[in-house]
Amino acid sequence: MKLSDKIFNAGVVGAGGAGFPAHVKANSKVEYVIANGAECEPLLHKDFELTRNFAERVVRGMELMVNETGAQIGYIGIKDKNYPAIEEVEKYLEDKNLEVVHLQDYYPAGDEYELVYNATGRLIPPHGIPLDVGCVVNNVETLYNISLAEEGVPVTDKFICVTGAVNNPSTFFVPVGTTFEDAIKFAGGTTVDDFGIFIGGLMMGTLTDNVTEAITKTTGALIILPKEHHLVTRMDRPVADMNRIGKSACDQCSYCTEFCPRYLMGYEVQPHKVMRSLEFSKTGYAVWNEFADLCSSCGLCTLYSCPEELYPREACEQGKSYMHANGKKHEQKKEVKIHPIKDGRKVPVKQLMKKLNVAKYNVPTPYTEGFPEPSQVKILLKQHVGVHAKAIVSVGDSVQKGDLIGKIEEGKLGAPVHASISGKVTHVSEEFIRITKV
Ligand code: SF4
Ligand code: SF4
Repeated sequence: MKLSDKIFNAGVVGAGGAGFPAHVKANSKVEYVIANGAECEPLLHKDFELTRNFAERVVRGMELMVNETGAQIGYIGIKDKNYPAIEEVEKYLEDKNLEVVHLQDYYPAGDEYELVYNATGRLIPPHGIPLDVGCVVNNVETLYNISLAEEGVPVTDKFICVTGAVNNPSTFFVPVGTTFEDAIKFAGGTTVDDFGIFIGGLMMGTLTDNVTEAITKTTGALIILPKEHHLVTRMDRPVADMNRIGKSACDQCSYCTEFCPRYLMGYEVQPHKVMRSLEFSKTGYAVWNEFADLCSSCGLCTLYSCPEELYPREACEQGKSYMHANGKKHEQKKEVKIHPIKDGRKVPVKQLMKKLNVAKYNVPTPYTEGFPEPSQVKILLKQHVGVHAKAIVSVGDSVQKGDLIGKIEEGKLGAPVHASISGKVTHVSEEFIRITKV
């Protein structure tokens, strides 16, 4: 069986958060395969722990991808500060067509556009993907899962980092479908009664206070912060309020643009202009929203650059929605060219943590074994880019860990889902399947 078929059958998707079905990348022909182990979100050490503890599997996943795609070489991007992971990886590189790319500790070093540029010197065209410049990029955990898929093992567990206001910040595997509550409990419980949970990261993640939510194949982290923490109150604000404040307080200083990573790479993103669409005038939405279309939503403008603490990222997100809803796409005519000041404007993650007022939570999150099997799991049928998987089990069925429980219609983009624990199916809907331990 082809590797891409094995990857599809195992339900492997981009584990870094994107959730793109991994078999599609394995099916392409490229010059370079790049492993993304950059992990630039503050406080997270998941990719570091995975790479350090399972370097052989990550390297095996890379080797498989390089062979399958016909690539000349594979680059493994890891930050220099994570040297123990580099040392582990290097143990397995002998005689292989693989190299470590040493990255600096700035945000957002893990953005695919940045990573491809750092590894190959190539700039992805506007609206493009790494494939446009002969590359595929996979998160290190996706590569770990690919190495298992090759042995016929499906994705049933997710590696997550639980940190912030918890007693034992740590990194561990949980069955897909585990509740946030169970994961937080394994990290020693929270140190505060009232808290917000950032899912995936402080910069690009989402905020919730619902501990009954389920971990999916793309949930990389749960960061707990006290409810009164400035970041929680800032990100909890309704969009209408964000817009109202932006409209009244933006002085067009343009710091948001001057520090924008995409702008500094030469893409026509200018959040200060997008702010003008917040009813600065009754005309011009179409003009100003053009400058949002190539934004990556990295969050730097909202959470770091803007001295007024406004919401340019959120304005860009609305701008992108406006463009999409009106069938518009910004066509960049200018050549993409690195801004001469780019290196001087890199934002060190340490500096970013200070600004976010989370430096005190920047502690190691050691890999911890022994997560107890939950009494039940809620497995979503859409944890990936593409169509929903269709349940192939019914209430009352007995399933074993690893059994296929949700299938993708032939010819459609998506990834099948598997039982993450053994037990009885106690709920089936279009959205999710619940399995209860017996
Ligand atoms: S940095 Fe803030 S105040 Fe300055 S232009 Fe951007 S949104 Fe407006
Ligand atoms: S979120 Fe802000 S800083 Fe990030 S790419 Fe978009 S406009 Fe630039």
